[in-house]
Amino acid sequence: MAAANKIRLTYFWADESVMAEDFRGKISKKMSEFARDFYGRYGFELDVKPGYEPGKVLESRRFALVKNDGVRPDHAALVQAAAESMERLKRQMQEIAEADRILKERQGDVNRLVARMKAASAAHDAAAVDATVAPLEAATRQLEKATTNKEEVVGRVRAEGSLDWSALDFETQFRRQLGFKWLQGVMEAKRLPIVFCKYVTHFLSMRESTFSVTGNTFQAEDTPFRFFGGDWLWSAPFVCLSIEGAESKGLAHEIVHAAGHPTEPPNGKRIKDLKRYVSYKPKPLTGSVLDRALTSYENYLEYQSLFEVVEGGYYAGDSMNDIMNYNADSSDPFASILTDDDKKLLDGAIFVRP
Ligand SMILES: [Zn+2]
Repeated sequence: MAAANKIRLTYFWADESVMAEDFRGKISKKMSEFARDFYGRYGFELDVKPGYEPGKVLESRRFALVKNDGVRPDHAALVQAAAESMERLKRQMQEIAEADRILKERQGDVNRLVARMKAASAAHDAAAVDATVAPLEAATRQLEKATTNKEEVVGRVRAEGSLDWSALDFETQFRRQLGFKWLQGVMEAKRLPIVFCKYVTHFLSMRESTFSVTGNTFQAEDTPFRFFGGDWLWSAPFVCLSIEGAESKGLAHEIVHAAGHPTEPPNGKRIKDLKRYVSYKPKPLTGSVLDRALTSYENYLEYQSLFEVVEGGYYAGDSMNDIMNYNADSSDPFASILTDDDKKLLDGAIFVRP
């Protein structure tokens, strides 16, 4: 019999408290055993660092990402922060656009008075020239004021900056911490990092069942070797698994995603109000670049409001007992199946290929 292909995994824990809790509850151990039995049937062998027998706490310590207070992924807060960030950006753009509009108006006043003075001068009408001097001076002062105002607004917006949601951005933080582990030699290329953590909120609670997502696979980044704040980010795929409410098959399921099986179908859209939908017309884009950008953003919001979201991502996989199907029996590794297509993905995965 040919030697089994190894699925090479490196386990990390968000912090030492998660590690201790996991070892007490044998959660990652149960997931590992499920994956071992499941993949064993397809000729794969699980190769786990630092091993999945709980109790080896001393050896495992260097696989904790941070000592305490590890990242707790909070999807709902992240979505909320993204929405707030958009609102803030919209307000900032509006303020700049308004300052810009006033500035243009004042510039127009000055231009008109200059033209009038030139015309009077060409006609040798000294009285008319004199009559434009005071208004031109006043208009110039207004223009200076508008210029200063716009500089102030732009400066303030720049100082405000965009919302800092780095504390919520667990993906970047995990990539950064995995980057540290790579530099320390704890993490190796050609292995798949599995980060055990606790999710603050379980998003995508499905109506049809009580199941909520407790695992996520983050695919490879578009830019390899990305630096962030001076740190090298792990750019290959990695998996997050919550140790709370986790299902035994969670690890086996996410491994297939990390091998390239697309994540669940995205949310769908349904037209909310047919009458509004058929009569919808985007506002024409006119004016300055800022005006146009703002109008285009308003058009986008208006258009989005015509739809309601239909949650997707429920039925994945053709067969009821496909490991990628959420509804499949999650307790028995011998009751789930791996499709031929998914097995091919596994064979070609960077963490499996010899
Ligand atoms: Zn999935």
